[in-house]
Amino acid sequence: MPEVGRGRVANYIPALARIEPDQFGMAVRTVDGELFGVGAAEAPFSIQSISKVFTLTMALGFDGEALFERVGREPSGNPFNSLVQLEHEAGIPRNPLINAGALVVDDVLLSRTYDAKGAILEFVRDLCGSLDVAYDEEVARSEREWGDRNAALAHFLKSFGNLDNPVADVLDVYVHHCALRMSCAQLTTAFQYLARGGVNQATGERLMSASLTKRANALLLTCGVYDAAGDFAYTVGLPGKSGVGGGIVAVMPNHWCVAVWSPGLNESGNSLAGTRALELFTTKTGISIF
Ligand code: GLN
Repeated sequence: MPEVGRGRVANYIPALARIEPDQFGMAVRTVDGELFGVGAAEAPFSIQSISKVFTLTMALGFDGEALFERVGREPSGNPFNSLVQLEHEAGIPRNPLINAGALVVDDVLLSRTYDAKGAILEFVRDLCGSLDVAYDEEVARSEREWGDRNAALAHFLKSFGNLDNPVADVLDVYVHHCALRMSCAQLTTAFQYLARGGVNQATGERLMSASLTKRANALLLTCGVYDAAGDFAYTVGLPGKSGVGGGIVAVMPNHWCVAVWSPGLNESGNSLAGTRALELFTTKTGISIF
């Protein structure tokens, strides 16, 4: 695919700037658990904002839809780390998948758990049915050191009364879940509950009602790839979530999850080759939600 190696790696997080852009992996896992992979499907990478789906699921488990009193559920039409909208909308982030919204979600997790970082790690390990998922402390430190924009968002939220916990604690949780390392194959297992009406594939446990799962997928479709959501729905036609590590996970409810990884990003911060691969996948198979 000519797109592999094109685009720019996320150089605003120094630990991610060193990643070799010329890499590609893809995995598909059906709701029955069958796995298909190509390229670097088993290679772990920094999942970054893909992790916001896990934290959102946990926060919905604690607060239910009361969460949406503190964060909206409309596409932002702005970059993931934009500050302007937050001021304009009085400290209520547009949705839980942009950075500001994810920081509010992390605040919920800090209030509701004894050890938020530990709880997130345990949650993701349970989704994978494996202990082979960990925080990359170097990436977390690197983002914390260079994350002035996220710090600005968090202070802004605090000033509007939309964070209950100290800014430093919220940022610490945020940079850690963004620094989770997982492979495409693992992500297709972890995301299965979104394809299986809310039921974890690894344990059979119900995480969300079918109705809430439908709503979570709707959030992915409208907000999961930020200001590229319209284009992604148009070209790929699946609910999906991207991260600046170059990963994208997409869900075909009742059928399968697919994950791609290629570190070169487009101007919206989504994997360039990954987006193209998903477009080809849904076009050639003729399967999408539309
Ligand atoms: N940790 C990254 C950041 O806050 C996540 C952004 C992303 O993956 N889109 O900038």
